[in-house]
Amino acid sequence: MVIKNAYHDHKLQKYSDSIFFKDAVYNFVFNNNKTIIKDSPSIYISETCGSAIAGQVWCNAQYIDIELSAWILVDTKQTQGVIRHELAHAIVFMCKLKGSQHGRGFTQALKLTSPRLFRRDRHWRDTSAVYMERKKYHPKTQLLVS
Ligand SMILES: [Zn+2]
Repeated sequence: MVIKNAYHDHKLQKYSDSIFFKDAVYNFVFNNNKTIIKDSPSIYISETCGSAIAGQVWCNAQYIDIELSAWILVDTKQTQGVIRHELAHAIVFMCKLKGSQHGRGFTQALKLTSPRLFRRDRHWRDTSAVYMERKKYHPKTQLLVS
């Protein structure tokens, strides 16, 4: 773990693992894994990844950490969406899928982690609750319109 001032969240870890170890997801990773990573990605919460960044993924040869901004946690549905999104980035890394950051390989992976909501899970949304929470960490931030 390399993320500064971050804490591990067991409940969100359980959610993340429930997605990662779904048959369709895990079988794909198992059959296409080009890394030596054996563990499922670990979920960490930090104050903020950035004013407009709800989550990001840290990958190296040994492990994958998913960092979530504390402000997204006010919205459970979106938090779960961000986890599915970041898990897709993790799969792109593990399986060396092709394409740009949110391109072909990412979409292929997102359809695995989020078969029904992959369109929605491409982006998080700045609801009033999220915006108010975000403002605590980023006082000068503006409401993001999508
Ligand atoms: Zn992304």
